[in-house]
Amino acid sequence: MRRNEDSSRSYIAVVCDACGKVIERASDGNYEWGMSSGGFVPTTPLYFAHKRCSQDLERQKCPAGDEWGTSELSYFPLRLGFGLDLDWKDSMKMLESISLFD
Ligand SMILES: [Zn+2]
Repeated sequence: MRRNEDSSRSYIAVVCDACGKVIERASDGNYEWGMSSGGFVPTTPLYFAHKRCSQDLERQKCPAGDEWGTSELSYFPLRLGFGLDLDWKDSMKMLESISLFD
């Protein structure tokens, strides 16, 4: 991920770990991870990829014999918020109070 700016806003951009280009729409991307064979123990960090680049990413990053987990990027912000025990209401208030250029 990286912070981007254009003429009207700043935002967090998600970069595809396979091709290096920004994933423009959440519905076009996945977050992915390697897992031990038959289990849920992660063997790699989380990666981000366009759906069209998913197989390339797996070939690049997944250890031989391990399984590969994938979930649509649209779910990532919510899963991150739940994992951080985010106070959604307070966070939305804080976001509304800051400039889009912060
Ligand atoms: Zn890509």
